Amino acid sequence: MTKYPKYWKEVKARKFRYCSRCGAEIRVGEYYWRESVEDRFLHVINPKNLCPECHSGQGNDAEKKT
Ligand SMILES: [Zn+2]
Repeated sequence: MTKYPKYWKEVKARKFRYCSRCGAEIRVGEYYWRESVEDRFLHVINPKNLCPECHSGQGNDAEKKT
């Protein structure tokens, strides 16, 4: 059971990252999706990052809302 629902937030990359799913490069200045929680005082430890392709292709996970 999750206390704080996680969701995917679109953010602009401020440093070089890799997609957690397909390993694609996410370059500085590009947008990607980062795992976040609905609590401003809480941060996800080691959040997952998704490139736009994976985010749009994963359907179920992304659109599942409580
Ligand atoms: Zn990807």
